[in-house]
Amino acid sequence: MDTKGMLEKAYKDYGIDEKLLKLAEQAETDLHDIFGRIENRAEIGQLKVLNAFHENRVSEADFVKTTGYGYDDGGRDRLEKVFASVFKGEDALVRAQLISGTHAISTALFANLRPGDELLSPCGKPYDTLDSIIGLNDAAGSLKDYGVSYRQVDLNDDYSFDYENIRKAINDKTALVEIQRSRGYAQRPTFSVYKIGELIRFIKSVKPDLKVMVDNCYGEFVEEMEPLEAGADIIVGSLIKNPGGGLAPIGGYIVGNADMVEKSAYRLTAPGLGKEIGANLGVNKDLFQGLFLAPQVVAGAQKGAVFAAYILDKLGFEVNPGPFDERSDIIQAVDFHSPEGLIAFCEGIQAAAPIDSFVRPEPCDMPGYDSQVIMAAGNFISGASIELSCDGPMREPYTAFFQGGLTWYHAKAGILTAVQKLFEAGIVQ
Ligand SMILES: *Cc1c(COP(=O)(O)O)cnc(C)c1O
Repeated sequence: MDTKGMLEKAYKDYGIDEKLLKLAEQAETDLHDIFGRIENRAEIGQLKVLNAFHENRVSEADFVKTTGYGYDDGGRDRLEKVFASVFKGEDALVRAQLISGTHAISTALFANLRPGDELLSPCGKPYDTLDSIIGLNDAAGSLKDYGVSYRQVDLNDDYSFDYENIRKAINDKTALVEIQRSRGYAQRPTFSVYKIGELIRFIKSVKPDLKVMVDNCYGEFVEEMEPLEAGADIIVGSLIKNPGGGLAPIGGYIVGNADMVEKSAYRLTAPGLGKEIGANLGVNKDLFQGLFLAPQVVAGAQKGAVFAAYILDKLGFEVNPGPFDERSDIIQAVDFHSPEGLIAFCEGIQAAAPIDSFVRPEPCDMPGYDSQVIMAAGNFISGASIELSCDGPMREPYTAFFQGGLTWYHAKAGILTAVQKLFEAGIVQ
């Protein structure tokens, strides 16, 4: 038997139906050019990271664990310089003490807004967990609670920016604009860095000193350029997504304008202390190595997303983005229009996870989310959505948001298992 035959047998032994394997083979043939482009971008990203390591002279001494106050933590400081180089910012705050993406966003917003200021979202309602930060649900301790108001301009029906109303929404109080690159859980496309650049140029033409923050979650390394290169003042994201490469055990980043990063550090620790303190607790090597692997991991996740889009589209589901569309994040949305479809798909993703493959995901309430959510993930790092994972709010159109995969091979196996579950549940013939 040749290796191709052996591979087919391995998938059959693993429980994947012959017909589905044929569809997978067709997918890989038809997606050849797209996969090639994804790999080219991964190589560009790899060189970008490698250059940043060289420029900043990363050495083994940077992996030393520090504890307590963490004064003179050279490795931590160097990691921040490397992030600043990769993402083209003046400075960076990259810390284990930034607990999550939401925490990084919250830190940057509170740091750079003052009572009487107004925050503007020019692209509709932001990610669900920002509701409490902004105060949309009157949460205690929100920006609203501190006297920071909020204004939002929804997208046009065709998901383009509503430039006229954005112009009208910008006023004397507007101090910060938040642009979310990834679609998150919303029914709208992800914005490319190019599109974000156009929006930023428009905003700055209306009010030149207005600062722009981009929520960069899930977008890192998907395109050749990052939002700071398109005119953003700061970008914010999570290390248990793309830029942690699957190795970062915790953390978030804030990169960009030096003054805004400094204010963020004052907010995270204390005024006067800022970036000077904060022990690395031994995570430095994983953060450096995770960033080093990130371009390759993100490429694997993207190939998985494209592959899933192709197969589920062929099976008659609505997929967003389509398999041949340009991408700016690693998220793939699939509308199942039934709780059973969403649940069966998530069960398959869970069954293919390296960890906790034997548990069954169930819909439940989640802090920060306004409807029940089903989540499938069997992760090395708890909650890391750069690992193969799938989640969806239990509401019409029962969309599965699928992302991640530490390797392309695992992403492929996971998707095939999930589709196999759809067959077995009688949801597809
Ligand atoms: C994941 C995500 C967040 C929040 O990150 P957490 O680490 O889950 O808190 C914010 N915005 C977007 C677009 C995201 O995808």
